[in-house]
Formats: sequence, C-alpha cells, structure tokens
Amino acid sequence: MTSPHVIIVGAGPGGLASALQLAKAGARVTILEKQSWVGGRTATFEQDGFRFDIGPTFFLYPRVLSEIFHSAGFDLMAEIPMRRLDPQYRISFAAGGKIDATPDLVAMEQQISAFSPGDRGAITRYINDNRKKLERFRPVLESPFNGPLDLLAPSVLGALPSLKPWRSLGQELSSYFKDPRLAIAFSFQAKYLGMSPFKCPSLFSILSFLEYEHGVFHPLGGCGYNTFVFDALILTAGTFVIADRTKNTLTKQATWFWLECPVVDGFGILDLAARPRANGIGRRQGDFD
Ligand SMILES: Cc1cc2nc3c(=O)[nH]c(=O)nc-3n(C[C@H](O)[C@H](O)[C@H](O)COP(=O)(O)OP(=O)(O)OC[C@H]3O[C@@H](n4cnc5c(N)ncnc54)[C@H](O)[C@@H]3O)c2cc1C
Repeated sequence: MTSPHVIIVGAGPGGLASALQLAKAGARVTILEKQSWVGGRTATFEQDGFRFDIGPTFFLYPRVLSEIFHSAGFDLMAEIPMRRLDPQYRISFAAGGKIDATPDLVAMEQQISAFSPGDRGAITRYINDNRKKLERFRPVLESPFNGPLDLLAPSVLGALPSLKPWRSLGQELSSYFKDPRLAIAFSFQAKYLGMSPFKCPSLFSILSFLEYEHGVFHPLGGCGYNTFVFDALILTAGTFVIADRTKNTLTKQATWFWLECPVVDGFGILDLAARPRANGIGRRQGDFD
C-alpha cells in the first residue's frame, strides 16, 4: 500500500508541526507556502547582523510543543534551549506603583500586600482556582472541534460551571482583586489574542495563570529559532526538501516545501515541475506524482 499524500497549506508553526508529525507517521507531505520563507508569523528577518522576531516575543506553555517534538523523537529543551524569565516582566501603572511579575508566589504576595493591603491572599486564591479550571478545561482545549455538535460534548458541558461563560474576564478578576490595578495586571494577557479583557469570556483568566504557573520563556536566539530548528529537524530527518525556484531539484524525498506557492481559490491541478503556483488543490489521486 502506498503511503497517503497530505498537502499542507502554510509553513507557519502549525503547518510545520503537522508536517513533522505526518512525515514521522509515514505520510508523504507537500507544504505549499505563499511567502519565500517559512515560519509564518513567527518568522524572523535580519538586518545589520542582527536577527529580529517579526511576531512573538516570548513563549508560553512549552508543554504542547514538547509533546510534538517528543512524538517525532526529539527533546524540545535539548533542541531549543529556553530560559525561564524571572521576573517575567515589570508592570508600571499610570495611576502609580509597579509590580515585578515573578512566578515566586511568596514574593508576589509580599509585593501585592505592600501595593494593596486589602488584596492579601488574592493571588494565591486566583492561582489555585485557575489550576482547577485548567485541569477541567484541558481535555476540551486538546480536542478537535469538527462541527457545532462538538460544543455539546460531555467534556464541554462538564467544564461549563468552572468556565462561567456568563462572566467577562474583567468581572472575574474583580471577584478576586479589589484594587483595579491588579485586575489589569492579570487581564492584559487577553490582548495577546487581540481581545478586550472587559469583553472576552472569563475563561481567558487561564492565560495569566499559565504565565505564573508554567512560566514565560525566551528561546535563546529568539522565537524564530523554533522555525530554524524545525528546518534543521526536517533536514536531519532526511525526508524534507526545501524546493523553490532557485533550488528546483526534484528528488525521491518524501516531503516537500514549495515556497512562493500561494494557494488561490478554485480547484486546479498543481504542476510542481513546471509552475510553482497552485490554483487550488487538485483532489484526484496522482496529481502530485
Ligand atoms: C505581533 C505578534 C506577536 C505575537 N506574539 C506571540 C508571543 O509572544 N507568543 C506566542 O506564542 N505567539 C505569539 N504570536 C502568535 C503566533 O505568531 C501565532 O500564533 C503563530 O504564528 C500561528 O501559527 P500558524 O501556523 O497557525 O499561522 P501563521 O504563523 O500565520 O502561518 C500561516 C502560514 O500560511 C501561509 N499562507 C497563508 N495563506 C496561504 C495561501 N493561500 N497559500 C499558501 N500559503 C499561505 C502564510 O504565509 C504563513 O506562512 C504573535 C503574533 C504576532 C503577529
């Protein structure tokens, strides 16, 4: 039986991770990327001898990437050395005061008590409650949602009481912290996802929890380093070829990158050898042979 051929559109972190796992599982993989580089929004650019991340500034919750690497036979921390930041960052408030956000909860309690005596104990309560919330919600976060009925899955319905979908993140934080500055300190993380803390659901309190409980990391060499390592892994695995107009060498390798290959509307047939541009993805078996 021939191995299945999978086409992935986009060589961002999502496409790269999928490619790695599919290739490891034995599939033939073709990745079509419209840009001339890989990495999507986590790519980097170089200027005057320095490398700059175009998107992410730090890395949260490495557990997921760690599992992806592990499934492909690699150790994340060995491949991508990361430094856990302490303090994670400093928050200076326009209304006065500052907090050095540290994962050391005893030190955080001391800072908060000095900052707002009425909020003594609040962060410990907040972290403990969010730990339980994430435990209940993690199976939901890690399940595929293939249709509206999946929203009625027992895992989703069971998690609802602790998610309190009727509450905004701002309302949730006000139930823990009396000082509005503290509500800001634990809610601005919603902006990572482009959301207003005062409008987004209270579920997103897990974002600041993740920072304090699981850490804020700097991959040495920048977040784009993830992408470079994926390239290296791919090449090391010996199954990937980066193919572009300049290196247009077809080989018997199982997995292909096509750069500068935007997928556009409609279904056409991709002629890899002649024209590195896809007019949609042909679904007939053999289109890529
Ligand atoms: C300013 C900024 C700051 C961020 N900060 C952080 C952070 O600190 N920490 C963090 O973890 N995350 C951060 N992110 C988010 C992170 O970059 C994204 O979550 C991640 O890149 C998403 O990966 P993806 O593969 O799903 O999509 P993308 O990275 O968007 O990759 C999609 C790829 O698909 C390609 N593509 C799209 N359409 C087509 C088409 N028709 N044909 C062919 N190719 C196509 C694109 O060119 C791109 O390469 C930040 C993002 C931005 C923009």
